[in-house]
Amino acid sequence: MMFEKNRIITIANQKGGVGKTTTAINLATALAAIGERVLVVDLDPQGNASTGLGIDRRSRKLSSYDLLVGTNSVAEVAVPTAVPNLDIVASTMDLLGFEMEVANAANRVFFLRNALQADDARSYSYILVDCPPSFNLLTMNAMAAAHSVLVPLQCEFFALEGLSQLLDTVNQIRGTVNPTLDIQGIVLTMFDSRNNLAQQVVNDVRTHLGEKVYHTLIPRNVRVSEAPSYGKPAILYDLKCAGSQAYLQLASEVIQRERLRKAA
Ligand code: ADP
Ligand code: MG
Repeated sequence: MMFEKNRIITIANQKGGVGKTTTAINLATALAAIGERVLVVDLDPQGNASTGLGIDRRSRKLSSYDLLVGTNSVAEVAVPTAVPNLDIVASTMDLLGFEMEVANAANRVFFLRNALQADDARSYSYILVDCPPSFNLLTMNAMAAAHSVLVPLQCEFFALEGLSQLLDTVNQIRGTVNPTLDIQGIVLTMFDSRNNLAQQVVNDVRTHLGEKVYHTLIPRNVRVSEAPSYGKPAILYDLKCAGSQAYLQLASEVIQRERLRKAA
């Protein structure tokens, strides 16, 4: 991909509640705040990323479903958010039908890739895809379309176990539909410094995965969990809180690593 203009990053973990959507919303906001042009694609039928970015259900007309099945282009389905430079392709319940509808299509894994290879996707420097909590066809589409996978990992006892499953899946995808799929990085979420186990998990993950783990730790922070109910990213809801600051730091780490990767 010599003329690669954008970076498509899939945010995945087959476990629910590990911070995928929170990371999609706040990393996207932070990247946009730093001046990148960012698109979030909400690929979870639950639509939490859409709600959290202030797109209420009634106002959703065209959605990621229309993008997937190819009836509409990126430019047609993307809507602006309250964050300058940040657009979103919202999700609707239509997504629930996708898997069944395309089950027999030979190219069923490539619907999102086809949609995001269009020219109108290149006006974004980052495209973050928020995945549902399972290895279903939507997640496979996201992995087939992406340059890389970013993995939020909650600092808890079973974290590493789930991670090895995820890395196996990424290897499978590499061996089949997307040979160049990269691990963008692993971000540790909901870190609680008062919890000794959490610190142990951080040490274990760093020992096993070294460089791939971001230095930024996302703290457990009540402001971060309150923000979605106001339809706002944490960074708009309370810029000063520890969670917002951590996501801004994560965004600069992501950008810095991208510079190094491009220079290599
Ligand atoms: P996933 O998308 O992986 O299912 P979410 O991002 O929806 O996970 O997070 C699960 C729950 O944890 C949500 O209620 C969210 O608000 C909360 N949460 C996520 N990250 C944090 C954080 N850093 N501090 C406090 N609560 C958080
Ligand atoms: Mg989610």
